[in-house]
Amino acid sequence: MIDPFGRTISYLRLSVTDRCDLRCVYCMPERMTFLPRADLLSLAELDRLAAAFIRKGVRRLRLTGGEPLVRRDVMDLIAGLSRFLRSGALDELTLTTNGSRLAGHAAELARLGVRRVNVSLDSLDPETYARITRGGRVETVISGIDAALGAGLEVKINAVALRDDNLDDLVTLAEWAHARGAGLTVIEVMPMGSVEADRSDQFVPLTEVRRRFERRWTLTDLARRTGGPARYVRTDEGGTIGFITPLSRNFCEGCNRVRVTCTGDMYLCLGQSVKADLRTPLRAGPDDSSLEAAIDSAIGRKPRGHDFAIGATPAVARHMSVTGG
Ligand code: SAM
Repeated sequence: MIDPFGRTISYLRLSVTDRCDLRCVYCMPERMTFLPRADLLSLAELDRLAAAFIRKGVRRLRLTGGEPLVRRDVMDLIAGLSRFLRSGALDELTLTTNGSRLAGHAAELARLGVRRVNVSLDSLDPETYARITRGGRVETVISGIDAALGAGLEVKINAVALRDDNLDDLVTLAEWAHARGAGLTVIEVMPMGSVEADRSDQFVPLTEVRRRFERRWTLTDLARRTGGPARYVRTDEGGTIGFITPLSRNFCEGCNRVRVTCTGDMYLCLGQSVKADLRTPLRAGPDDSSLEAAIDSAIGRKPRGHDFAIGATPAVARHMSVTGG
């Protein structure tokens, strides 16, 4: 799959549910309205969709949400998809999770061929974590991370930088992650969907976060790019820190990915509303030709990039939990 700007699309992020057991203040409102269950793709449909993308050249597949591990029987989906790892059709099958149910699933994920997971953790301080997530328990996530590391999974911690909530906690979080052999990636808050807070109050440019890290460590820029939006540095103690800066520094030129929601909407860009309906061709019958044609036509409409800006109205109306982070 090659888009109009010559970018090869080889990475699919597939959301398996919009539901989540947390309500992070930057992600969704406290009283979030979730999609009717009937609109959600079945596990068989998600599998068929993933298989179509893999036939078309996707080499990396990340399951996300919502919280992927709250979807009932999600491990059956992962077990099914692991056939593509065994056959060599996929290079990588991964997961982005809030870690709340990781302790119970880590060993099975490793057994199925998952090699690494991204775990979202914005602060180690129990009170701050509970406030940001509206009720989450940081101890549970830490047990999940330890279980994942114990099962041999590589762990990357993702933290969204928030001016009033965790700005003072990020150095400690990096030290903690590095001591466990995990990397930390810090993310600028993106104006996706309405939340109670004012985005301009939440937002911190990562140049400011980087300065805080530089007071603790000497940082060396790394050339390493993983095909994703992060730029990486190494600390003088050998730990890795990534920076994802959708607002202060756009990262679209090397974009290799598309996203599909749990209702079968394919989004060509996280920060644009252009999308394609894949559920209709999927449900039209067992033949995948119209599904594949819909994917091809959508790739032909992939925008050059997003134009996020922190302002009064969200850049895109949908919440991150809809598209999948
Ligand atoms: N529940 C899983 C998790 O917590 O990782 C997967 C879905 S979550 C939507 C994926 C990532 O998006 C998380 O790291 C979360 O912090 C991030 N996220 C959600 N809303 C965001 C926003 N408005 N700006 C930046 N990152 C956001």
